Amino acid sequence: MAKVVKFGGSSLADAQQFEKVKSIITADGARRFVVPSAPGKRYSGDTKVTDMLYNCYDLAVKGKDFSKEFEKIKERYNSIISELGLEISLDEEFDVVKACFIGKAGRDYAASRGEYLNGIVLANYLGFSFIDAADVIFFNDAGQFDPKKTRKVLSERLESLENAVIPGFYGSMPNDTIKTFSRGGSDITGSIVAAAVGADIYENWTDVSGFLTCDPRIVDDPEPIKVITYKELRELSYMGATVLHEDAIFPVRKAGIPINIKNTNKPDDAGTMIVESTSQKPAYTITGIAGKKGFTVVNIEKDMMNAEVGFGRKVLEVFEKNGICFEHMPSGIDTMSVVVHQAEFAPKEQEILSGLHRNCQPDVIDIETDLALIAVVGRAMKSNRGTAGRIFSALAHAHVNVKMIDQGSSELNIIIGVSEDDFEKAMKAIYDIFVSTKL
Ligand code: ASP
Repeated sequence: MAKVVKFGGSSLADAQQFEKVKSIITADGARRFVVPSAPGKRYSGDTKVTDMLYNCYDLAVKGKDFSKEFEKIKERYNSIISELGLEISLDEEFDVVKACFIGKAGRDYAASRGEYLNGIVLANYLGFSFIDAADVIFFNDAGQFDPKKTRKVLSERLESLENAVIPGFYGSMPNDTIKTFSRGGSDITGSIVAAAVGADIYENWTDVSGFLTCDPRIVDDPEPIKVITYKELRELSYMGATVLHEDAIFPVRKAGIPINIKNTNKPDDAGTMIVESTSQKPAYTITGIAGKKGFTVVNIEKDMMNAEVGFGRKVLEVFEKNGICFEHMPSGIDTMSVVVHQAEFAPKEQEILSGLHRNCQPDVIDIETDLALIAVVGRAMKSNRGTAGRIFSALAHAHVNVKMIDQGSSELNIIIGVSEDDFEKAMKAIYDIFVSTKL
């Protein structure tokens, strides 16, 4: 039995957090492979080591003195080492890192040192082997993750080990330079390691007890989600639910390994289980609600549009040529609306408008900005009548005007567009109508 356990930055922010991590790992002998992040924030307003490293490196590249900032990074590690009473010293490592900063070894190299150094400390503290991720996680020349090579080398390397610490977030390129995943990427490393060792479960330890049914900044104390499918999670993460890196799903999902999101500060909480499929009935018709602001809708009207073969293609071609992806495209008989990200659309607005006039000869084009999208997601929707009805009556009672509706054919989600001013009100209304009534 093997479990891969990944600990986020806040779980390893200081010596007290390290102690919690050790007791979690030693409580279960199956927790054999550990993937740490760099030390994160100890309190709100604190700075993550990764950000300190980026900052330091930016100074180094500009040829500025970064010794004061570098000392602060050293202090973060040295205080953990001394408070835990460990007998290692990272002094030589620090010298190498500093020299590489001066030698401009790259921003990715700089950021990766957060996980690398933390991995050395954690391995020493746990008495586990340390494996440098640069030797087992690979990217290709184009900078994309190389799953084939990684899987082969990583599984061979870990096969012979009883336990090991593999730092998250980075790997190496064919020319041996260091490359990182995008921010929060230690989640991806954990997933890759879990797939390589054929783990029974991938435990992702963080500072919340799993995913919540709604954003806690909008709804007070929202219910946690006990079980969620990969598909549902994808919908929710895309729309802004951020607990796990979006790309962390793919390696384990392919291997049929469930992910359990757990809370280092409340290890007895069940957390959220993320699974391929489940016969477990969710507590409510909806599994979760998530949303994002910052969308624009381009409404295009043209009489007899429905009879014009290729009209949709001509519209989308204009967006494609300008490098804009569209989010949704609800349409009527003589109207078509294209929903896009405002920040991407705004700088290209005039090119797109003239392109649409040239390509499609529309009667009217009208642009509406400041739209928010809300995704109401749930595998139970399919088998429950009246879900859409409940959503819209809740919104009507809350005096929210619905500007757009889109339901995927999988019946897994309903997307609603509302004005940004109504966003919080709409989220609350939908949460109340579903989560206050159990199935
Ligand atoms: N330390 C990196 C970051 O802050 C990666 C991670 O924590 O997953 O983004």
